[in-house]
Amino acid sequence: MKWIFSPILFTAAVFLMIFGFISFSKTKNKPVASPLRRVLFLSGTALTFLGAAFVAKDEMPAYLLYAVYLCLSDAVLISLTIYVKRYTGLYSRAGGDTKYFCFGALIDCIMLLADPITHWVFTLSPYYDKFGSFFYRISERHVLYWYHLVLVYVMAAAALSTLARKIVRSPKIYKMKYLCLLLTIAFILLIHAVCVRFDALADASLIFYPIAGAILLYFTVLYIPRGLMERLLFFTIANMKDGIICLDVDGKPVHANRNAHIFCSSENDPKAMEIQIERWFRENITTGTNNQSWSLTRRVDDINRYYDIEYKTIFDAQYKYLGCFFIIHDKTEEYAGISAEKYRANHDLLTGLYNKERFNEAAGTEILGNTDVTYYIVCTDVKNFKIVNDVFGTETGDRLLKRLAEIYGNFCTEDYIYGRLTGDRFAMCVRKDRFDGKALLDAISEITDFTGNNAFKIYVHIGVYEVTDPYLKISVMCDRANLAIKTVKDSYSNIIAYYDSKLREGYLNEQKVISLFEEALSKRQFCFFIQPQTQVNGRVLGGEALVRWIHPTDGMISPGSFVPVFEQAGLISRLDKYIWELACAQLRKWDQEGFGQNYLSVNISQKDFYVLDIYKIFTGLVKKYQINPKNLHLEITETAIMNDPRSQLPLIDKLRQFGFLVEIDDFGSGYSSLNTLKDFNADVLKIDMGFLSTKAENEAKSKTILRSVISLAKALNMEVITEGVETQEQVQFLTEFGCDVFQGYYFAKPMPAAEFEKTYLF
Ligand code: C2E
Ligand code: CA
Ligand code: CA
Repeated sequence: MKWIFSPILFTAAVFLMIFGFISFSKTKNKPVASPLRRVLFLSGTALTFLGAAFVAKDEMPAYLLYAVYLCLSDAVLISLTIYVKRYTGLYSRAGGDTKYFCFGALIDCIMLLADPITHWVFTLSPYYDKFGSFFYRISERHVLYWYHLVLVYVMAAAALSTLARKIVRSPKIYKMKYLCLLLTIAFILLIHAVCVRFDALADASLIFYPIAGAILLYFTVLYIPRGLMERLLFFTIANMKDGIICLDVDGKPVHANRNAHIFCSSENDPKAMEIQIERWFRENITTGTNNQSWSLTRRVDDINRYYDIEYKTIFDAQYKYLGCFFIIHDKTEEYAGISAEKYRANHDLLTGLYNKERFNEAAGTEILGNTDVTYYIVCTDVKNFKIVNDVFGTETGDRLLKRLAEIYGNFCTEDYIYGRLTGDRFAMCVRKDRFDGKALLDAISEITDFTGNNAFKIYVHIGVYEVTDPYLKISVMCDRANLAIKTVKDSYSNIIAYYDSKLREGYLNEQKVISLFEEALSKRQFCFFIQPQTQVNGRVLGGEALVRWIHPTDGMISPGSFVPVFEQAGLISRLDKYIWELACAQLRKWDQEGFGQNYLSVNISQKDFYVLDIYKIFTGLVKKYQINPKNLHLEITETAIMNDPRSQLPLIDKLRQFGFLVEIDDFGSGYSSLNTLKDFNADVLKIDMGFLSTKAENEAKSKTILRSVISLAKALNMEVITEGVETQEQVQFLTEFGCDVFQGYYFAKPMPAAEFEKTYLF
């Protein structure tokens, strides 16, 4: 008998060991790896000891071998409970009941190993078979054996309950793998229990150990729930945005997802998909290729939809053809995203026209692509657009720009490239021979009444640059067109100005003048000239302080060519302060030298009112130089005051109260209105002779006006000075009209202060 039992047990042990080694290479770092290996190796070892016990000839070794076998079976069960916990994922790091099992097994092992002496657990006795051979078998089980048995069953029950819990909680497709383990363990336990109950010669359950080991290994390492992959793939494919069609070896569709059906319109008609596939094979796929892709566009519900189609073949491991599949990728949304982004990058969001960058690019390509053609760059500017925004609100400003964009859109034929540069600036690029300036002015005229307010008309100024050098940057061409606009910036009408080289020189000169300002000021190149103001009899009462720039190489530069530039550039106030200071120093000097009755008038630029505290500066100067404010006349143009009368008129009053004499400069040169005389409380009215230098036929009329203006000024208690007096005739009629004081070349030109003193004072 033992010659049957032992070889079976040894063989089973060898199998278990082999499985143990297999698990080594397959499970590596998985958490189940080490408990699984322990189960396999320990049960292999246990069976080896039991096999050895069967062949033991003496009682003592047999006792010991049995005892070790039983100890090992404790260890196997502890490992099994741990394995099951890891396998099901229901284990906790703290160890849970494992430590109680270990403790129970420790007591069991001590008693088992003591059994050869104590015989408290079991008793062995030789069993003789009918061939006369014998082996030692457990003949009596004592109380402590039942302790061992209960311990083993409790541990097995723990493993089973863990599996049972997992089965209840798992989705259906996973139940299988836990159920198989549960049944395996339960089956072994059952056989074992039956053998114990009927006191069988040997525990038949042991034969099933290798089978159980194989099952454990299989489920741990190899098993993937049946259908899980299929299901996962199915759901993935079904929910993919792309359409997928799988074909078998014969080219018949075996699987297609919803989006593929929608694409082929084959939801209700499987034939439609086959027709589509057939067409692809015919038109797009080169026979013999394994991968191919192409794009196509379709019109669906009145919009274009864009697709990428991909074709791929499938082979098995032996490179045998299994079938193929198509992926239909709808890229319409991506396309829309990309083109929206492209649109945003190239267009002005408010008006929808090209933005500056795109305009420059397109115009540049056009001009450089046709260097034999002459082009115009046309820029437009809305006069006083800032005021539209300030007075009517930015919303109206925006509406105005949109309307302008519409007008340009309607006006510009396909010969034009046009866009919005910034703010109220628009630009066009067009062949010279296709540009119709008059038509553009006509188109624009509609905007004039945009505000609906008669007092605030909208005027558009247009600058045109004829492209003489096609290699210039477009932005420079636009600058030149804008420069042309500057020449008409004061115009109250829709108007076109053309750029010419004189304009450019003027512009360059301006830039030069600005760049030289600092140096000129610090090197005292700005000199102080005085033009005498005289009574009709030639008696000099004082003079106007006029600046001259004495440049070391260019010589004397007259203010007409730099004062407006400095005004534009925001530099004038620094120059004015400098001149005022010189004028005050001059008055102080005259005072000290006994010519205290002479006055000087200084010019105050319009810009000064915005950036300087005029009152503080002049009162400060009076104190500093200890002069009589009566001798300092302040020349202020009416526009400087009437642009912001509410804050400037009180300032004028304050200056006069302090004792300064205020003059209205250049009266008659700009938009003089008689209203000004009513509101602007000045001491002196300074009439510009430019008034008279107009056309001869108007001379009589002008004289009449001059006469009335002078008498009106007199009536308002103002003194009248006329400047620009060049002839005796002028002096005559002006005197007749009532003018008191004259300034002009007829009497004297502006001269350096020292010359003035020498000629008129000393
Ligand atoms: P304005 O204030 O109207 O000065 C009078 C201008 O008329 C002076 O030109 C003067 O030389 C010129 N003039 C005087 N009599 C006659 C004449 O009989 N015939 C002609 N054709 N012209 C005459 P100027 O000195 O060239 O000054 C031009 C303008 O520059 C001034 O006009 C004034 O607006 C500005 N300006 C001059 N100096 C200063 C200054 O220190 N500060 C500021 N802000 N502006 C100044
Ligand atoms: Ca003046
Ligand atoms: Ca003047």
